[in-house]
Amino acid sequence: MWSVWASGSIYQFMSINQTPGERRVFRLIRQRPGISRVELAGAAALSTGTVTQIVKRLRDRGLADEGAVSEARAVGRNRVGLRACLEPDRMVGISVRPDLIRYVVVDWSGAVREERTIAAQHLVDQGPVIDRLGQALADQRGTLRGVGLGIPEFPAVIRDQSAGWAENFRRALEVPVTVLNNGAAAAVAEEWRWVEEPPERFLLVYFGSGIGGALVHHRRFGRPPSVHPVEIGHVGISLQGIRCICGNVGCVETVAGPARLARQWEGLESARERAALVESAEEALIYALSSVINVLQVEQIVLGGLNVPVLERFYGTLIRRLGSLRTPRGAPVKPRLSQIGDYSAAIGAALAAIDGVPDLEVV
Ligand SMILES: [Zn+2]
Repeated sequence: MWSVWASGSIYQFMSINQTPGERRVFRLIRQRPGISRVELAGAAALSTGTVTQIVKRLRDRGLADEGAVSEARAVGRNRVGLRACLEPDRMVGISVRPDLIRYVVVDWSGAVREERTIAAQHLVDQGPVIDRLGQALADQRGTLRGVGLGIPEFPAVIRDQSAGWAENFRRALEVPVTVLNNGAAAAVAEEWRWVEEPPERFLLVYFGSGIGGALVHHRRFGRPPSVHPVEIGHVGISLQGIRCICGNVGCVETVAGPARLARQWEGLESARERAALVESAEEALIYALSSVINVLQVEQIVLGGLNVPVLERFYGTLIRRLGSLRTPRGAPVKPRLSQIGDYSAAIGAALAAIDGVPDLEVV
């Protein structure tokens, strides 16, 4: 069991003598480089006087300063404002899937400084790849402050191995390691990159090799949100059908799971059969997601992951059909596609390693 709350964690390092207001302001400065004091006051729900005092304390302690910010994140900022000044510290995020491993190195603002995709040779046992990654990262040991490891819910063999991988990283790099579900990690990244103030609740649907996701609940902006993994792929849509990797039959993933869909697509030759395959996957997804929306009462839905060419054929239709749904309270559902791209789970894992995610059970 590793968590960012463990002793010696970066969160504790930042938290020493920090008040809740200071932590909130510091998180916002990291999250929105170039933010002004007035914007900070609004987002953190504090008076400008209080913000000015907090900023002075953060500057005195070398945690933040004011200057020109040219930001790698796509939030349209290129201006003079506040920024976290903890260069050259870096965090690493790794997202493991049965077919590939993605890894990123991010700075305090969550901006990606390095990214890489490694196709897994062993399909299930990525131990050797992970070990080599650990060895390569040992060169950066002095500047690394945390590692986040995103893993899928299935196959169980990855989950079983992840504790050993985390222990190796922790020993080799001497940093805290956070292990969490890929869907939850992608949701952390989505919340962090939300261009304006994130909504109080949203559901991130994560298309990896299977379908996962997480419900993000925001009590107050500027604090880490609570993140609850939701196994969307294993929502039942039928009492019959193919046996799923989870042991049940009739899960939506057996009809619309990205990896399975891509394999089936390759096996079909006629355009008509392929169209029928995509249509049945789309139907299954709408059916499953309407149940999830109903149970969780979410209005805002973001589709993330999104790197399966077969699925690209129906994102547009999926968004349109989700947009015609209503919550049990009669509110219209607001769906959109994530803009973060293929590395969302790896980025989110790195951010979770720095920030901590309250309420999330860390694997
Ligand atoms: Zn299942």
